[in-house]
Amino acid sequence: MSMNVVDIIRAKRDGARLSDAQLRWFIDAYTKGEVADEQAAALCMAIYFNGMQPGELAVWTAAMIDSGERLDLSAVGRPTVDKHSTGGVGDKVSLILAPLVAACGAAVPQLSGRGLGHSGGTLDKLDAIAGWRSTLSPAEMITQLQTVGCVIAAAGSGLTPADRKLYALRDVTATVESIPLIASSIMSKKIAEGTEALVLDVKTGSGAFMRSRDDATRLAEAMVVIGEANGVRTSAVITAMDTVLGRAAGNAIEVTESVDVLSGRIAGLDDLVEVTLALADEMVALAHVDVDPGARLADGSALAKWREMVVAQGGDPDGLLPEADQRLAIRAERSGYLTRLDAFAVGVAAWRLGAGRSRKEDPVSASAGVVCVAKEGDAVEGGQPILELHVDDPARVTFAVEALDGAIEIASEPPERKPLVLDVIRP
Ligand code: URA
Repeated sequence: MSMNVVDIIRAKRDGARLSDAQLRWFIDAYTKGEVADEQAAALCMAIYFNGMQPGELAVWTAAMIDSGERLDLSAVGRPTVDKHSTGGVGDKVSLILAPLVAACGAAVPQLSGRGLGHSGGTLDKLDAIAGWRSTLSPAEMITQLQTVGCVIAAAGSGLTPADRKLYALRDVTATVESIPLIASSIMSKKIAEGTEALVLDVKTGSGAFMRSRDDATRLAEAMVVIGEANGVRTSAVITAMDTVLGRAAGNAIEVTESVDVLSGRIAGLDDLVEVTLALADEMVALAHVDVDPGARLADGSALAKWREMVVAQGGDPDGLLPEADQRLAIRAERSGYLTRLDAFAVGVAAWRLGAGRSRKEDPVSASAGVVCVAKEGDAVEGGQPILELHVDDPARVTFAVEALDGAIEIASEPPERKPLVLDVIRP
């Protein structure tokens, strides 16, 4: 069928629903370089303003998936289920969740990314483990899913080439912040990895990509519809991201904290455990596995799976992790209750200390980061440490400390305890 790209842009500009044939033709032609960047940019801007209908978005996403390979995990021999988080500060949940859900009997094929900006990336954290290998072939992934039951690896370049092109284009044309474009970008990558079921952790709050609860809900609903339309059982948990999850924001320090949780050292980490178990419960339910993740965390089998996963990917689970040369305390200005410890500010401070990157190709420090010595709701004494900065490049300290300006609030009354798990969206 002959298609005219200008007609497609005009139709979306004027608010029409694009036909399935138009959507598929456009994604295919853009991926092959037959549609110019300026035309794709115009269509993204038209989508930004006029949105997409649910059926339209499902087909657009299916076309993105079909632009590359879709992994076939049928040889794994167990139900497959994955989790995707829209990103937050201190969000090390994947490190605990993948071995935990594997210990329950499902297989977790997690293809992950590196961090950008204030929110950390799972692969950057795992790279702090000496010898860890995040680049695995599809055959290696399948073998590890059969033997260990979980894998956390980098997505290969054969998956969703359409998303790679579109995401880079959106980045330079102010069209990242469009719910249908975000939803299709995330879901195309997750569906292409071949999982049968998927749980989304859609975060909302100051440290999240979706600051408002309404936007988080709309994104979650759009992603659940896309998943179901493309044959993947999908649900979304909306979780609060106003303050750091757990205590550590950095790379090696988040690995240490994850191992603490897996080892049962959970004092002061109730928020991290609560979010992890909420997601794990949802994952085992979607995978139709009748095992209680809380029991598997408590009996040490999740820790055993973690150790197996680290060994399978070239690391030493008993190896020492890199540590920063210097620690610097940020202290309470008065006594009272810590009523706010802002996630975004702590994330930016950790990033500026070197734990995160501004451009995809930048290196990250394994040891730099921020540890929250006190958490929201704690009673604190004037002068006591609230944060501990882990510093391996002293030249970065001033800029990092500036990010924390106004991030800490102490009041005479304790704050109200806010819920962490705000909602669950199911089809
Ligand atoms: N993450 C993605 O993978 N895609 C987006 O569009 C936004 C966040």
